[in-house]
Amino acid sequence: MAADSTVVSNTENLMKYMSLDQRGRVMAEYVWIDANGGTRSKTKTLSKAVKTVEELPEWNFDGSSTGQAPGDNSDVYLRPVAIFPDPFRQGDNILVLCETWDADGSPNKFNFRHDAARLMETHAKEEFWFGLEQEYTLLGTDGWPYGWPRGGFPGAQGPYYCGVGTGKVYCRDIIEAHYRACLYAGVNISGINAEVMPSQWEYQVGPCSGIDMGDHLWMSRFILHRVAEEFGVRISFEPKPIKGEWNGAGLHSNVSTSATRAEGGMKVIEAIMKKFEARHVEHIAVYGEGNEARLTGRHETGSIDKFSYGVADRGGSIRIPRQVAKDGKGYFEDRRPASNADPYQITGIIVETMCGGL
Ligand code: ADP
Ligand code: MN
Ligand code: MN
Ligand code: MN
Ligand code: MN
Repeated sequence: MAADSTVVSNTENLMKYMSLDQRGRVMAEYVWIDANGGTRSKTKTLSKAVKTVEELPEWNFDGSSTGQAPGDNSDVYLRPVAIFPDPFRQGDNILVLCETWDADGSPNKFNFRHDAARLMETHAKEEFWFGLEQEYTLLGTDGWPYGWPRGGFPGAQGPYYCGVGTGKVYCRDIIEAHYRACLYAGVNISGINAEVMPSQWEYQVGPCSGIDMGDHLWMSRFILHRVAEEFGVRISFEPKPIKGEWNGAGLHSNVSTSATRAEGGMKVIEAIMKKFEARHVEHIAVYGEGNEARLTGRHETGSIDKFSYGVADRGGSIRIPRQVAKDGKGYFEDRRPASNADPYQITGIIVETMCGGL
């Protein structure tokens, strides 16, 4: 891909430095979630390689610079919760996913992992599995979808979904790089596909059990932003980036428990649907900002105002896959979450609705 004129990089020159010996020391990239559903990160040098989060020191950052704390009490603490091999620096270097904690010992306002982790632990015997389908859009540095005519539109939707060939897909290099980087990092990425709107893509993460779902999805988002940065392309998780006859972007959330996966699971799923119906409004409240522009009842979505479900129904809130109905057991797909929703909040409220709160 030709670099945008505003992007200055010299990969060949950089490689000379990247191959210098680290002298046994290790770079740990501490990653956290900010106030706007983005990721932030900074690096710490460790004296030696580590294998577990217990070996990692707590750290902190200036929360007044990220909208996560007031200026007069700005320290926010970073508590390591998961380690991933670093696909960018490689070797013993690591990515460290962190929870954010305030100085008074309470979870930061934007730390949605804390409650989710407690819920997962409380209901661990249900053996929750989740699989999330992350849709997103590639934008040029001008904020318009990558590869679209400047200020204009490409041909109508149709040839792009799982498309092959020039003019049908864009930035396959970024998508391939992200896929490989996730595999290297041990993120449980399970597939990719080009989406209905040109320059929109999807990857799936899962099945993951319990809190791992949020951890792996957040790390996959960090890696995506980080890869795209090197290509001078922006990643958008906007649920409806382009108004009109263009598909929005979702975060379909597939769910199962040991009971739904066992014989008679279909009956269990039917009972779960009643519980979901009763809490539609509460779910929508944490299923992403701007989701009302996407959940219109058109473009393969259900209406935001009304809960519905059905077998093989891509126009409902929840779809029970045909194969699951046929087998009489398996999982279901909550199609409501928007691409920008927080996976901890999604999986958290699903567990709460099915099993009760803390
Ligand atoms: P589609 O596009 O047809 O909705 P995908 O193949 O994109 O489906 O995604 C299906 C998702 O379902 C995958 O992320 C996978 O991990 C997840 N999944 C499959 N089986 C289960 C299960 N038993 N429990 C939870 N998630 C599951
Ligand atoms: Mn400083
Ligand atoms: Mn999918
Ligand atoms: Mn999709
Ligand atoms: Mn889906």
